Amino acid sequence: MTTISFLGACREVGRSAILIESKSGAKCMLDYGIRFHGEDRLPYNTNLKNLKAVALTHCHLDHSGAFPFLYKTKKIPFFTNSISLAITEVLIRDMIKISNYLHPFGYRELDLLKQNSYFLNNGTRQKIHDNFFITFIDAGHIPGSVSILIEVDHKKILYSGDINTQITNLINPASSINIPEIDTLIIESTYALKEHPPREQLEKDFAEKIIDITDNGGRVLIPAFGVARSQEALLILEKFNYSGKIFIDGLARKVSMLYLDYPDFIKNIKLFRKALKKAQFVSRPKMRSKVKNTNGVIISPSGMLKGGTAINYIQSILHDPFSAVYLVGYQVEGTPGRKLLDDGIFEFKESRGHKNNHVDLKIKAKCDYNYFDFSSHSDNIHIHKYIKNLKFQKDSNLDVFCIHGDNKSTTRLAGELVYKDYNSVAPETGEIYQV
Ligand SMILES: [Zn+2]
Ligand SMILES: [Zn+2]
Repeated sequence: MTTISFLGACREVGRSAILIESKSGAKCMLDYGIRFHGEDRLPYNTNLKNLKAVALTHCHLDHSGAFPFLYKTKKIPFFTNSISLAITEVLIRDMIKISNYLHPFGYRELDLLKQNSYFLNNGTRQKIHDNFFITFIDAGHIPGSVSILIEVDHKKILYSGDINTQITNLINPASSINIPEIDTLIIESTYALKEHPPREQLEKDFAEKIIDITDNGGRVLIPAFGVARSQEALLILEKFNYSGKIFIDGLARKVSMLYLDYPDFIKNIKLFRKALKKAQFVSRPKMRSKVKNTNGVIISPSGMLKGGTAINYIQSILHDPFSAVYLVGYQVEGTPGRKLLDDGIFEFKESRGHKNNHVDLKIKAKCDYNYFDFSSHSDNIHIHKYIKNLKFQKDSNLDVFCIHGDNKSTTRLAGELVYKDYNSVAPETGEIYQV
């Protein structure tokens, strides 16, 4: 029997890891991500003997962050693409450097991961063992993101990874129309209970508000995720002919520069280059002090204001009724970004060794603040549409596993699919299914 072991991302977002095992016992790991809280940060422990290959859907750490752990003792081919490898390296290095948590791996294992990497083009069928193949398919989530089609023992399993089927400015959307007939689907459920607002109107509101504030001498801080969301925000400003100053700091700067090296993964590299040319990169404390009092837009991580270079700017902006903080990603409960949205108060504590690095802030916002839902995950309607457009083999059980979402999202999506006659379930961590 072919089996699927769910080692993470079960009824939660974090430590995505799925192990596929063939009848003959050959194994392939799809993603091996990290979780950012709690005791169990790595995927669920299991027997990894006979692991023939590992494959990555995209660079986000909840999918990639634990991969170096697999390279402590093994030398397994790691299938990815050039942009995902480059950004994964940046993110894992950053994670090892700044995390208070002691990861059971380090730069040595990260180097081994790199040395064993192979780039796979989308649509190329890669053999990993007898009767065992993987194919990458565009996932529309962030530059370089893929879904993975696994062919094992003459069965086809599709692992969506994180998907977006809605149009964005940075990349092309995913589509399930041309995917070959499958037997089993493993689908993400992050926004399975949500409906995103109409994108065009949202972009217009966002740009108009920013233009209005900066035209009146104010400053707008966009605390965006460094990977993809910062660049999407930049492209929206370009689309609406924003002509004021734009500053890009921190990881957003690093990733923006890297994107230029991988033009094939960007929807319109000319436009991206043009937008980036107008922006100024901030990298030194001296420039930061100047920028924080300059009329214009500052794009700077972290996206939920949990840290990052955004913290350098936020104080002076919060005190200014003519400026604004516009969040552009989902704000998890308990994060400073969420507290700002809910209560209008920014609370932040951080201490890093030296007492000069101690930050303790509690500020009532006088500035404007808002949330613009520029998500890179499909919402309820689009997940259902994606599944509807997929073709299942005639004799298949219509198996659909709902993962990568909280308890409510995964179980509710599974329930909705059962109602549509799929054999759907939201697996729990460590569960093994035969398909
Ligand atoms: Zn992701
Ligand atoms: Zn994810």
